[in-house]
Amino acid sequence: MADRPWKGVVDTIADLRDHGMGLRGHCRAPNCSGSRELNLDKLIKLFGEEYVFINDKEIGRQFICTECGRTGGTITVIANTMPAGWSSPH
Ligand SMILES: [Zn+2]
Repeated sequence: MADRPWKGVVDTIADLRDHGMGLRGHCRAPNCSGSRELNLDKLIKLFGEEYVFINDKEIGRQFICTECGRTGGTITVIANTMPAGWSSPH
């Protein structure tokens, strides 16, 4: 994605994709530890490339746990685990 200028911050789901990062959804049910990686391409189709995942409500609201079937979760960012290039600002 060389045509996308690097704006110094990762805040949209397209940024996540471009930097080899991802999103993970975690089930909110108190007795369930279900979590899974979310499909970024699918999220981009649903929400658009410029959807800002920070303080997300919508993605979390549509998360469906594969363990217990409950809808609603919290979203965390998966860091880029590839060795070269980009380092996390955190
Ligand atoms: Zn669950």
